[in-house]
Amino acid sequence: MANTDTGDTDTDNASQRLAELHHYFREHPVTGPEGHSYTRPGTGHAASTAPGLPYNQRVCDHIRASVTEVVQHTRTAAPDAGLPQHIEDVYDWAREHTENAPADVQLNRDITEYRHRLEHAVHAGDFSVVRPHRCPACRTLGLHWQPERQRAVCLNLHCARSNKGHSRSWTLGRLALEHVTAEKSLRECAT
Ligand SMILES: [Zn+2]
Repeated sequence: MANTDTGDTDTDNASQRLAELHHYFREHPVTGPEGHSYTRPGTGHAASTAPGLPYNQRVCDHIRASVTEVVQHTRTAAPDAGLPQHIEDVYDWAREHTENAPADVQLNRDITEYRHRLEHAVHAGDFSVVRPHRCPACRTLGLHWQPERQRAVCLNLHCARSNKGHSRSWTLGRLALEHVTAEKSLRECAT
């Protein structure tokens, strides 16, 4: 939880986005402080969310699914990893426990973390995180997030023309894969 607000610009990552989402969720509780005790698995309160505020329920489900996904991935590689202390620590925790894991495990971890950064932002209504990505097919900028389809659509006309007139669309998972593998090959070129 301890966000050191140093004015550092390097805070737009999955941890920070998850912390914001978590913070928002705690300030807009479903039923009260006990209504979403997903931060403390095992205390027996986790199922006490009530219907009525679907947005919060969706955010709650999303947070829980994200943390569970990272924990399960990590434990596959490191069965003795235990659990992260706070949900926002889950990405640091995962890196710590997989730093000596095989390359494909680490790559998967990085892709998941990057995808989560995008997902957390989109869940918080910030679609601007999608725009800096290039369309994997035509390599141009101009992707637009369509929440109802949960996909990023390429608005480039040439791209659509080369796809029988239909705009291409991409999942956040695909964008994360493209981004992380491109960064990785850049790093490998530099060394
Ligand atoms: Zn395109």
